[in-house]
Amino acid sequence: MLHEKLDSIYDSVLRRNPGEIEFHQAVREVLESIGPVLGKHPEYAESKIIERICEPERQIIFRVPWEDDQGEVHINRGFRVEFNSALGPYKGGLRFHPSVYLGIVKFLGFEQIFKNGLTGLPIGGGKGGSDFDPKGRSQREIMRFCQSFMTELYRHIGEYTDVPAGDIGVGQREVGYLFGQYKRITNRYESAVITGKGLSYGGAQVRTEATGYGCAFFVDEMLKARGTSFDGKRVVVSGSGNVAVYTIEKVQQLGGTVIACSDSSGYVIDNKGIDLDLLKQIKQVEHLRMDAYAKRRGGEVSFVAGRSIWELPCEVAMPSATQNEITGKDAEALVRGGCVAVGEGANMPTTPEGIRIFQEAGVAFGPGKAANAGGVATSALEMQQNASRDSWTFEFSERRLQEIMQDIHGRCLKTADEYGMPGNYAAGANIDGFKRVADAMLSLGLI
Ligand code: GLU
Repeated sequence: MLHEKLDSIYDSVLRRNPGEIEFHQAVREVLESIGPVLGKHPEYAESKIIERICEPERQIIFRVPWEDDQGEVHINRGFRVEFNSALGPYKGGLRFHPSVYLGIVKFLGFEQIFKNGLTGLPIGGGKGGSDFDPKGRSQREIMRFCQSFMTELYRHIGEYTDVPAGDIGVGQREVGYLFGQYKRITNRYESAVITGKGLSYGGAQVRTEATGYGCAFFVDEMLKARGTSFDGKRVVVSGSGNVAVYTIEKVQQLGGTVIACSDSSGYVIDNKGIDLDLLKQIKQVEHLRMDAYAKRRGGEVSFVAGRSIWELPCEVAMPSATQNEITGKDAEALVRGGCVAVGEGANMPTTPEGIRIFQEAGVAFGPGKAANAGGVATSALEMQQNASRDSWTFEFSERRLQEIMQDIHGRCLKTADEYGMPGNYAAGANIDGFKRVADAMLSLGLI
């Protein structure tokens, strides 16, 4: 149920953004949390802050033509949604995946506003990407695509304007090609125009690991708040990309046993604990499917095709693949299997029904806006290092990340308490992120 003022705002979001179901879902989730804030702060409604937040400041859609290795021409669509710059330059990643359309970019950009606000760092919210499918493409094809994409994007971004980074399908290699093309077109070595760079050309220590490490730190805090820890816990991590791999690494360091991970072909179950070196070899070096892990690992390890990884009983679930991967049914199975904590490494991986089931069962639920904010927070640290032409050590950077995650965790709990919803991290994250952006918007006038 929405607060009555919010009901009509949500109706107008539905009307003005037809068919963009992921965006509708992301907006609804925030609106469901902020009802109580409006009672305490009538100034937000008077200035139509919520209506303004739901409308992107600027949306850019462009053509991306490129040529494959056989000389065939392809046309993809590029997007950049510059959603909100009240707190700082638009900040958020680029996603290259065939499912990308305006509704996905807007949901991600909308979430990014509050996530970035919650970090307490000076970054606004934005997101971009393309429906380009990098799967099976050669390195040269990827490079040509990135160059063509940046040939349009460059005019819209800048260190004080809009600072992209990676997301699904965009890692350090792609960021390198994008940055190289930006530098060539503009004749400026503007390091802080993009983050997630390689260490040899202005990248920051721990940025690669940050989303996964940050999510593990966040769950560690949730467990500590309940008087327990990762020690001896069975953990299921979905996905096997950047977020999943570094989530597994840090969970193992913190004493948890990760018994399963997955890709779009299926999942592996490895009760002794995932062999991280083998997983990195298979996914990051050889780019093989998940069954290769089971074959090479041998023993009791099995590969299960075409089923949900969430059918596995575990104490901690860390969805790190993509949106809406935990349905209501999956959440019920997890609760039945003894799950006590969920940390969202991906963006919006749990459906609204799934969230409700976790919360009613008393599971500690760490929403993506809080639990995966370590990635973008470390991007802000990369911008800070670029601005001061400095580079920090791995140890110092990781300590900063851990402090940021502890701070976010504490703030979510405190805010949830303040608004009468103790232990509700989702409400705490939405309210705290919203208030930071809303207050800045009030101060900046009618922008
Ligand atoms: N794509 C990441 C996210 O969802 C990181 C964005 C960034 O570093 O700007 O937060």
